[in-house]
Amino acid sequence: MDKMILCWLECVNCQAKYEIDEIRYSCDCGGTLDAKRDLSKIDGAQLKKTWEDRWGMKRGPLSSGVWRYKELIFDLPEEQLVTRYEGNTRLYEAGKAGEYAGLKNLLLKHEGENPTGSFKDRGMTCGTTAAKFYHASTVACASTGNTSASMASYAAIAGMKSVIFIPEGKIAYGKLAQALAFNGITLQIEGNFDDAMQLVQEVCSELNIYLLNSINPFRIEGQKAIGFEVLQQLDWQVPDWFVIPGGNLGNNSALSKGLQELYELGIINKIPRIAVIQAAGANPLYTMWKNHTEYKPVLDPDTIATAIKIGNPISWEKSLRGLEWSNGVVEEVTEQEIMDAKAMVDASGIGAEPASCCTVAGAKKLVEAGIIGSDEQVVGILTGNILKDPDAVVGYHKDELGSMGIKGTFANAPQLINPSVAAVRAAIGK
Ligand SMILES: *Cc1c(COP(=O)(O)O)cnc(C)c1O
Ligand SMILES: [Zn+2]
Repeated sequence: MDKMILCWLECVNCQAKYEIDEIRYSCDCGGTLDAKRDLSKIDGAQLKKTWEDRWGMKRGPLSSGVWRYKELIFDLPEEQLVTRYEGNTRLYEAGKAGEYAGLKNLLLKHEGENPTGSFKDRGMTCGTTAAKFYHASTVACASTGNTSASMASYAAIAGMKSVIFIPEGKIAYGKLAQALAFNGITLQIEGNFDDAMQLVQEVCSELNIYLLNSINPFRIEGQKAIGFEVLQQLDWQVPDWFVIPGGNLGNNSALSKGLQELYELGIINKIPRIAVIQAAGANPLYTMWKNHTEYKPVLDPDTIATAIKIGNPISWEKSLRGLEWSNGVVEEVTEQEIMDAKAMVDASGIGAEPASCCTVAGAKKLVEAGIIGSDEQVVGILTGNILKDPDAVVGYHKDELGSMGIKGTFANAPQLINPSVAAVRAAIGK
């Protein structure tokens, strides 16, 4: 088979091309790789029609919110796809969270509604499909939690062994629970995420294990479907902004790559602006973008939003390129801003884990700074499910996060009362 027809891998730095019959995660020059295909051979109008025809399919791999778009993801025969019918997540009106951010038209795309509770499933369905394509029997990743939960599940579906490297110390309980439950071999590393990331890359090349971090170009391909699906839900009307949290920076890179491709194919007529939001304690992209300085990792990243507690993000170059394509911006948010925004996302009845709520915290700041207009149509990506990190929720509402410098501004603490109608009456204000 001429695999160049499917896609090839191309270096982000030096544009060197590699055929996909060899497993590769980076260029000889050290640059990261994109999966590319010849878009001039694709008819955009026809493709859009194919995708519309698949909308609402009831069963089968193409009912997945990733594989519906397989022509721009990884165009293999259906029986080769490893899928949990991921995607097809809801796009909510933001309600209270929108008012809080000062936006009249805020929509929240809830990627926490994926099979394992985060957008990582969109990348993982494509990553494990690639693993199968390469006949891999073992897959591995370093993870702050959600990648491992997702990988362990998809590896189980595909009948592969999964090996997980997590940093020592705090990993959100919901995520650790999933990794163990889905039977991932879970190795806790002395060090932070960036150390674990370093180690897993060495291990994969030494032990011939397939690497499923977002350095893997196929993962990025799957995650492009978040943007595709939002646009299809909006009937291909392009919003003014996407707002998305940034940790290892794979997801915003995927979003911008996907939108760029739709634009090139004439499926959309403009590229929405993208705002990437980082936690102030793990903000290498923000620092570099804001000060126009060289890339410099953050050595001791720290934030309650553990999913983005990453100091040396692997996709920073792709991320910068995406900011150029989309006339994007980068913002940072404090711990207090993250958790207060989360309280609003949660109280609006939608709910998401801390990292996700950087979206609303960041949108609010950008509205206040006059960068996002209050009338503009904004789509915020909620990356993970509220149940991933119950400790953060209960800690905030009991106002027990003081040691992290976080106050329970909108706390809704449980109340202990004696068992009498009078006490209930007093408690509920009736
Ligand atoms: C992985 C993750 C992120 C960060 O995405 P990157 O691609 O690493 O930038 C944000 N939020 C949640 C919930 C995640 O799981
Ligand atoms: Zn290169």
